[in-house]
Amino acid sequence: MNIHEYQAKDLFRKFNVATSEGKVFENENDAEEYAKSLDVEEYVVKAQIHAGGRGKGGGVKLVKTPEEVREMVKSMLGMTLVTHQTGPEGKLVNKVYVEAASNIKKEYYLSFVTDRATEKNVIIASPEGGVDIEKVAEETPEKLLTQPIDPVVGIQPFHIRKIGYFLGFDKGQVKQLGPLIQGMYNLFVETDCSLVEVNPLIVTDKDEVKALDAKINFDDNAEFRHKEYKELHDPTEEEPSELEAKEWGFSFVKLDGNIGCLVNGAGLAMSTMDIIKHHGAEPANFLDVGGGATVEQVTQAFKMILRDENVKAILVNIFGGIMKCDTIADGIMVAAKEVGIKVPLVVRLEGTNVELGKKMLEESGLNISTASTMKDAALKVVELI
Ligand code: GDP
Ligand code: MG
Repeated sequence: MNIHEYQAKDLFRKFNVATSEGKVFENENDAEEYAKSLDVEEYVVKAQIHAGGRGKGGGVKLVKTPEEVREMVKSMLGMTLVTHQTGPEGKLVNKVYVEAASNIKKEYYLSFVTDRATEKNVIIASPEGGVDIEKVAEETPEKLLTQPIDPVVGIQPFHIRKIGYFLGFDKGQVKQLGPLIQGMYNLFVETDCSLVEVNPLIVTDKDEVKALDAKINFDDNAEFRHKEYKELHDPTEEEPSELEAKEWGFSFVKLDGNIGCLVNGAGLAMSTMDIIKHHGAEPANFLDVGGGATVEQVTQAFKMILRDENVKAILVNIFGGIMKCDTIADGIMVAAKEVGIKVPLVVRLEGTNVELGKKMLEESGLNISTASTMKDAALKVVELI
């Protein structure tokens, strides 16, 4: 789960990670009042969307007076911001963050991620900050330092020195880096993040080290032990169909093809898309109803697939493991009657009670072709469109 910069910075403050003073607003009047209360010569106004690259897209602006803060907040609210991370459709700006501007001497990169290969959290640092870090990794990998952290011993003083000197920091700056890295590490571990990224980390003209930007991803698997995730969640940032699917307990991703897919299990769902492509057609969606889908969930899944006007046929690919094939056949029959499926349906069932499931579908009187293998199913559905 992704959160906004202003929320990430609130967490930074809680964990004693140095940031500038700032606050989020949904209207220009409050923003102007706040700007007046800050004793600074310059302000930075930042559009809050779940995407990076805002600076280049016009979502980060420096202004001099509270009146200009007001005008800038007003013009950003309600605008659709397009960055290289939003896609061409862009994202609607509902909130704007106002911060005391910093005088930047140099920009750096600092992040924390989990490295599955070494089974450790790692710190990634680079003296090349404020830029596309993927590009640095590709073109000048020697400018990236990856420091694994042993989960038992945590951050050690030598980690801080190593990172600090790699970044070209002097003694005073390395000293400030200690609490900053320790705070970020504590935040990363205690709130179960999958990513904490600061791009850029800056050194100011007064030699202060602080986080100018903040990006946090939480690990969704830890949701059950963090009630605060719910408060930080912004549903307006998510794809409506994906959100709807999530509420029903399954995963759905809309794609551009014309074969609707209803599958249980993410791996099987991906294989199903592959085999459709292999036979020369394109899937209309990824859909994993999960291992123990109910009739209601299957019905809802059909509804979501059929809402897409591009869908010319549907392939149901179910492996009855925990779920029995006759349960799924039942679900398909109810769904077909309730939703009224007007496109051809190919069903491939395998696993527990497969014979019974197939028999039920054959005798149902519905316009369903059954298939025994994935290849058979894919060939049939591709032929039908
Ligand atoms: P992003 O483009 O979405 O990653 O947004 P950032 O928060 O990283 O801001 C983009 C760029 O705006 C930074 O790399 C800085 O160069 C600039 N910027 C942001 N805040 C300030 C500030 O307080 N002072 C100055 N001078 N520049 C800033
Ligand atoms: Mg940034």
